[in-house]
Amino acid sequence: MFGYAGRILHVDLSEGRLWVEEPDEAFYRTYWGGSAMGLYYVLRHTPPGIDPFDPRNTLTFFLSASTGVPISGQSRATANAKSPLTGLIGDSQAGGFWPAELKFARFDGIVIYGRAPKPVYLWIHDGEAELRDATHLWGRTTGEVEDILYEELGDDQVEIAQIGPAGERLVRFAAVMNMRNRAHGRTGMGAVMGSKNLKAIAVRGRWRPPVYDAQALQQLNKHGPAAYEANLAVKNLGIYGTASVLAAQNAAGGQPTRNYTSGFFEEADRITGERMAETILKERDTCYACVVRCKRVVETEWRGRKVDPLYGGPEYETLSTFGSYCGVSDLEAIALANQICNQYGVDTISCGATIAFAMECFERGILTEAEVGFPMRFGDAEAMIRLLERIVQREGIGDILAEGSARAARIIGRGAEDSMVAVKGQELPAHMPQVKRSLALIYAVNPFGADHQSSEHDTLYMPKSPRLFLDRLATLGLTDPQPPRVLNEAKIRFAYETQKFYSFLDTADLCQFVFGPSWQLYGPEELVALMRAVTGWDVTLEEVMRVGERRLNMLRAFNAREGVGRDWDTLPKRLFEPLRGGKTDGLSVDREEWEAALTRYYEMAGWDPQTGMPTPEKLRELGLEWILS
Ligand code: SF4
Repeated sequence: MFGYAGRILHVDLSEGRLWVEEPDEAFYRTYWGGSAMGLYYVLRHTPPGIDPFDPRNTLTFFLSASTGVPISGQSRATANAKSPLTGLIGDSQAGGFWPAELKFARFDGIVIYGRAPKPVYLWIHDGEAELRDATHLWGRTTGEVEDILYEELGDDQVEIAQIGPAGERLVRFAAVMNMRNRAHGRTGMGAVMGSKNLKAIAVRGRWRPPVYDAQALQQLNKHGPAAYEANLAVKNLGIYGTASVLAAQNAAGGQPTRNYTSGFFEEADRITGERMAETILKERDTCYACVVRCKRVVETEWRGRKVDPLYGGPEYETLSTFGSYCGVSDLEAIALANQICNQYGVDTISCGATIAFAMECFERGILTEAEVGFPMRFGDAEAMIRLLERIVQREGIGDILAEGSARAARIIGRGAEDSMVAVKGQELPAHMPQVKRSLALIYAVNPFGADHQSSEHDTLYMPKSPRLFLDRLATLGLTDPQPPRVLNEAKIRFAYETQKFYSFLDTADLCQFVFGPSWQLYGPEELVALMRAVTGWDVTLEEVMRVGERRLNMLRAFNAREGVGRDWDTLPKRLFEPLRGGKTDGLSVDREEWEAALTRYYEMAGWDPQTGMPTPEKLRELGLEWILS
């Protein structure tokens, strides 16, 4: 085989046993890698109905064929397990250098079972793997752990994926971090790792994956810098980071503000990507072999506290959740919040959004100063930092908020649930379904809760969208662009087809800023060309969509085993309430239109429209009949 190492590492932490599996090519071609390959093992080894912190919850990390080959956007890994945040399937991607390095160490993935009797870390190097004592690492922040392991392993080129103290304390939205600033953030995979007493996975290797057609790959790679220069959207991403969209989102009335009550933040100009570039940005960073270099590195201080460049810098989502969600426009305070999240290892989206939820509870008199210990109104940067520190330490009110906003709302009671802005227990990201209407559908149906990276956004599929975007979408059969605020047949089709495409990206572990169906550096045809060049397989776009569909059905099948279907495909009450202020004043999601779209979506997906679950016929069609047994 080309691209793959052909080896999967299995680790039983309870017994301290490690072994290597070498699946055949048919297995690789069916599941590809990433999320689908992880789900293959999670579905087989995690019994239905167990608590996510039960040692039987199987945790996986998977790469794909292209991971580690020299082209932009390929160094990503996916983590899967039952999520402690949602109680359903968990799924989260991260980039950096760790994924490529794991491939160089000659593994395509890791399957982790059981719970170690005491803290351990996994050391994987040049095809070998061993468990080592991590008692001395427990309680340490991510930066401290990196320093200790570089010294202990005698190599500062080792790449380390690890949990911070928040993962050890089972904060339900704890992340798995690598490079101290790249996160498997969503769905709490860091808490699962913490429940297993697995502190870190250090990797190092000198092997390089063989490529079927090195010349074709080189051609594609060579095209990257020119495509970057010619594509304004990607170039802006490189120069201003993901926050390059913040000013435009706000101008369109789509910047979530004060816990999603408004789409307009009056002080947005203080937290934009441009403002960051003018003030605290020290340099740009990248993932292995990527020409875009969208990652931020900031250096500043906030009230005498240093913000260290080692912890990167805030993304658009982080600037939103700790910024506009909380009504905070203090860029330095947000940079510090980002650092604390990366040191302790938590998802910045769920964490910042949960703080905004708590602030609204305070404003509404549901939480009081006597209970919390200090006032926490919207716009109060100090309260935001204090709440964050309590969450990562699970202290005081932080112990409740560390459960995530949905569980916290139930614990607090007194009407707090009206302020909860989450789907399936996962907090909403900073792209508003009121404004981009297909996200009302995708946030509801996505198997691991609200997610903005599971489909293309409405604003890319408008009659006035650039030709390049529309031409690429047309290759997926999407030839009927629509205004952003409708959820009609053409838009449902757009949501579903692009969801399958994105589902493939999370299976092939490709960065969605580099490969995508519209604005990205490379389009669908180049994606197929990459897959052919790396693997030598006669890959087609049809196969790509089929693999994406298979992974989507596997995610959904996991939830169906838990008895979860259409009843859980809901939206929070907040999205049906009118927004206040800005261009979108008075706007809300239309409930009738949205419910009709749900039914139509299930029909398109071949799922039962009543239950929202994959039908046996659909699973058989995708070669997933084994899930039924
Ligand atoms: S575009 Fe950004 S996130 Fe994606 S691979 Fe490149 S540097 Fe990493």
